Amino acid sequence: MRADPIQHAIDEDLVRVLYAQDPIAFFSHWFSIAVLLAIYWPAIPSPPLFIACFGFYAAANCAGLALWICNRRYPHLLSPRGWINLHALRGVLLYSAPGLAIWFAFQSPQSDLPLLHTVMLVTLAAGVFMSNGFDLLNFATAIPFLLFPSIVLHFGVHTFDRTILAIVLAFFFCAINVYALSYRKLFQQVVQARVDQQYLAESLAVQKHVAEEASLAKTRFFAAASHDLRQPLHAIGLLAASLNEPAATPAQHAKTAEHIVYNVEALNQLFNQVLDLARLESGVTQVIRLDFRLSELFERVGSQYRPQAAAKGLALRIAPTSIVVHDDPVLLERVLSNLLSNAVRYTEEGAIWLGFRRAGRSTGGYIEVRDSGIGIPPEEHERIFEEFYQVANPQRDARQGHGLGLPTVKRLVGLLGGELQLRSAPGRGSVFRFPVQAGEASGVVASLNETVAGAPAAQGRRVLCIDDEPSILEGLSSLLGRWGCTVRGARDETAALAALDDGFLPDAVLCDYQLANHRTGAQALTAVRNKLARSGHEGVVTLLITGDMASAELAALALQGIPVLHKPVTAARLRRTLDMLWQQAERDKTRVASAPESSVAQMADAAGAAGRMEKDVSRDVAGAPPFAAQREARHGQESASPREA
Ligand code: ADP
Repeated sequence: MRADPIQHAIDEDLVRVLYAQDPIAFFSHWFSIAVLLAIYWPAIPSPPLFIACFGFYAAANCAGLALWICNRRYPHLLSPRGWINLHALRGVLLYSAPGLAIWFAFQSPQSDLPLLHTVMLVTLAAGVFMSNGFDLLNFATAIPFLLFPSIVLHFGVHTFDRTILAIVLAFFFCAINVYALSYRKLFQQVVQARVDQQYLAESLAVQKHVAEEASLAKTRFFAAASHDLRQPLHAIGLLAASLNEPAATPAQHAKTAEHIVYNVEALNQLFNQVLDLARLESGVTQVIRLDFRLSELFERVGSQYRPQAAAKGLALRIAPTSIVVHDDPVLLERVLSNLLSNAVRYTEEGAIWLGFRRAGRSTGGYIEVRDSGIGIPPEEHERIFEEFYQVANPQRDARQGHGLGLPTVKRLVGLLGGELQLRSAPGRGSVFRFPVQAGEASGVVASLNETVAGAPAAQGRRVLCIDDEPSILEGLSSLLGRWGCTVRGARDETAALAALDDGFLPDAVLCDYQLANHRTGAQALTAVRNKLARSGHEGVVTLLITGDMASAELAALALQGIPVLHKPVTAARLRRTLDMLWQQAERDKTRVASAPESSVAQMADAAGAAGRMEKDVSRDVAGAPPFAAQREARHGQESASPREA
């Protein structure tokens, strides 16, 4: 990739160096013409031919000067290579005349003329070496014309001194060629070093600019984030302090508690939004594409926002479509939820429209969210995709959002392989659209609206919790206990294995990712699963809980097929995930029980593959988790709705 710029830079420098010497060469050649004329003048051999030859020499010299003037005046008329080639042509014309003119010296009765002419030619050759030695073409088209005729003619005389002169000339010819070779190498190295330095300086300047921009963006991000996080925290602090107020009535306490809950919810919501963005940034969010009916997804998100739209007197219209798309329904739902939520919030009258358009695409088309709302001025079209940027909320009132929706949407659409487009003007509403790929109707394996309803109850389940943090173990035990589970807490892998030895056979194992003594939750879960498998207790549900964002580690977990929840995990999310995993485990058990023996092994393989290849669930029909289950279990665990607590 770097070869071309370097060759171009070499050519540019060559043009500069070759043409820089031309005015001096012009006068040197007039001097050479004068000297040669002077030595031939007493007895010019073959005068007409002599005049033609020297006339040509003078004309070629003038043409050389004209070329130099052209290059100075119109440097962009030709490419650097073009100028180099023209200069080489000038060399052929200019040096062939004095080189071939030595023939006149051998026609003359004056015996010292060949020697004098040869001295002139060697002087010219030295000049060519100095001015054209950098370039092979210019050197090779000048030197042979100057020296070859002379070498051949001196050899042809067959006298001792002329043969020696011919040999010396040949040696000189070879020597300047060798010197010119190293001269050229040196020149190329110098140019390359200069280009490298320039390239380095430019890329450093770019990187510095990028780093400064990133640092500014980070500062803005933290300023806004800390402000928005501080607000509810501040309120919670004040409200909590007022709970100690002895004079307050129970009704006032209840009101204060209600406010605290509201602020905690707000904090949680903001925290989730920031974490979602961080997850998208760190690349741990996986895209899991399925074939599904777009109308089902439209209905699903539409039904979430219809009540809010209706409360504002807005119509939420969903255009009917029969298209099957091949995309990630979970991520797509988040995109649409954010866009619809904005459409409802920034529209006071009229309607909101959600639909699919082919828009000239042969496969797939565009999903569009349109509103007749306040619109966005063109100068804000880029900035609204910056984190925490809001067009009209300078006082950063949390009730008007935080400015994280569109940055999330933009990253999600990018992750899905598309580009978010915006058409909007103040007072004329907004249109957000992005592309989706068409899928195969035959590839639709389940309805998106399948839910985990009817999931087996948690009542009576045995759960083994592994966490080195006693307060978390305490919290988990009390929560799971309230759901009717029998809980056993373990501080590390050894304690967990000891619990199994004691005869505690769990239905689920919940494990923190970072454990004490440099052990990971994945290692602990593997040890527990292996021990259970050895005692014939297969199919235990395992769930990792992590605050980690490192994509390499999460990718490794995905390979092992271990579901992951990201902290902070709400009670509702934990419950839904466990319900789903138990439901899935029970389905697997039923399938294995009802399958003929020969296919049980295949199923086991398929189930393993489903775990390992989460990206490809659509192709593993037997192991494909329902959409609702997937939403809970996949290790992105992003909020399904933008405003979900
Ligand atoms: P939030 O809506 O929470 O402020 P977003 O990132 O979703 O954050 O949007 C950023 C800004 O873009 C909003 O503050 C709003 O000014 C503008 N915006 C987004 N969607 C719309 C829309 N449909 N109509 C008008 N303005 C919008």
